[in-house]
Amino acid sequence: MARFIFITGGVVSSLGKGLMAASLAALLQARGYRVRIRKFDPYLNVDPGTMSPYQHGEVYVTDDGAETDLDLGHYERFTGVAARQSDNVTSGRIYQQIIQRERRGDYLGATVQVIPHVTDAIKAFALAETDDLDFVLCEIGGTVGDIESLPFIEAIRQLRNDLGRGNSVSIHVTLVPYIAAAGELKTKPTQHSVRELAALGVQPDVLVCRCEQPLPASERAKIALFCNVPKEAVIPALDAKSIYAVPVQYHEEGLDEAVLNAFGIEPAGEPNLARWTDIMDRLTNPEGEVTVGVVGKYVGLQDAYKSLNEALVHGGIANKVKVNIRWIDAEVFEHGDSDIAASLEPCHAILVPGAFGERGAEGKIASVKFARERNVPYFGICFGMQMACVEGARNLAGIEKASSTEFGPTDEPIVGIITEWMSAEGVQKREAGGDLGGTMRLGAYPAKLDGNSVVSSIYGATEISERHRHRYEVNTGYRESLEKGGLVFSGMSPDGMLPEIVERPDHPWFVGVQFHPELKSKPFDPHPLFASFIAAAVRQSRLV
Ligand code: GLN
Repeated sequence: MARFIFITGGVVSSLGKGLMAASLAALLQARGYRVRIRKFDPYLNVDPGTMSPYQHGEVYVTDDGAETDLDLGHYERFTGVAARQSDNVTSGRIYQQIIQRERRGDYLGATVQVIPHVTDAIKAFALAETDDLDFVLCEIGGTVGDIESLPFIEAIRQLRNDLGRGNSVSIHVTLVPYIAAAGELKTKPTQHSVRELAALGVQPDVLVCRCEQPLPASERAKIALFCNVPKEAVIPALDAKSIYAVPVQYHEEGLDEAVLNAFGIEPAGEPNLARWTDIMDRLTNPEGEVTVGVVGKYVGLQDAYKSLNEALVHGGIANKVKVNIRWIDAEVFEHGDSDIAASLEPCHAILVPGAFGERGAEGKIASVKFARERNVPYFGICFGMQMACVEGARNLAGIEKASSTEFGPTDEPIVGIITEWMSAEGVQKREAGGDLGGTMRLGAYPAKLDGNSVVSSIYGATEISERHRHRYEVNTGYRESLEKGGLVFSGMSPDGMLPEIVERPDHPWFVGVQFHPELKSKPFDPHPLFASFIAAAVRQSRLV
């Protein structure tokens, strides 16, 4: 039976609970254990798919087509374990399920209540599909004390009893603020937060204390005394210089050992951390640096491009170079208040990422044109591929009115909605004016690559599988015109219906992909497209 680790947060949000969970899972994995991490989100959206990236950051898509919290991206990047739909649940999804059952009459005769119905549903999510695991880490979103998270804390309380002693551990992540005027770290917020959690029936076994200054032994002892945990289980967590330094840092502070001790497991030797020390060695001793211009829409909030940001870093790890990302708001190119050349000339490579809606599209098309004409490496992801096709159609195939139906009716729908396609489960349908939630081509789809293409040599394969999240497709009706303009369709869905990859063989590096390769990149296994793109940026940096 799997052992469970419940992770809650206190005092304030944004304490890096997700990173802590991912790092702990990586440490347990480095000790030979099989792990899986789950996220419980207390908000009422059924999934984060319909939330603005400004509200919630990136939507992370799994192979099985779930739109999930961005923390699942950290989990996958740190453990290499592919996240699934069953690893993320929200209050919205739980209530939706319960209300559907109630309407069906499943609870006939009973009053449906938070306890036991909601808590039972939460417990069932925690326990599902855990047979082949040693540890399941369950992170509860939000902060203890929030009204929304109460049913989740109650479910943990019950589960700890159900699972039996020794089979679960509670970790509470808190803040130990530094008060500059007093020159002191303050433990009181941690004490209060632990008291609040204990009042809900959950006594933490391990405390992870985020602090900006080293936590003196005296303060560690004080926290242990007031919060009823062993001193060794009070883990100081100072800010790290890179997120990839966090697993080793937590190990050095004794986190994995404290957790195993809390389970009554004697740690057998040391974890194998070679993977993490190698990554840090590459990050701290780069042999050069490149600048990548990312022309996007949500550039004000980097969480909106979390996986992309990381995948570019991984491309740097693969090439032993530092990657500087220059975030450029596509709209500035439309207002004429900034000169495209001035913004893009310092970049050794240009990337247009995924996006929804017309805002900024013309600026992105202008960036594609710049990259194409100036022979600067170009990587178009999803929307970025679609705009590369529109640019090619307008400027090389003579289709002046080329556009996407996403921007409204057009005579030349280079990019359009398709209403029927094949998935592993059979024919999928969507309506042009259908619901926005859960009506996209989502999750892993296979693609076949042309054996003579640049991308097949990058992948070293002609059959690939990548994750999708989009509603519109490049229209194969324009394939001939676009190919005459030099844009080759080098990857297609296996039935040949949907373009998956386009490339320009006459350009140093120009690739557009309909999927999101950034979702599958890992620091210890950089995605081949990102490794190749950054290698092209390195070559470009030597030219200029
Ligand atoms: N808006 C485009 C579509 O729906 C692209 C989506 C994306 O870039 N993820 O097809």
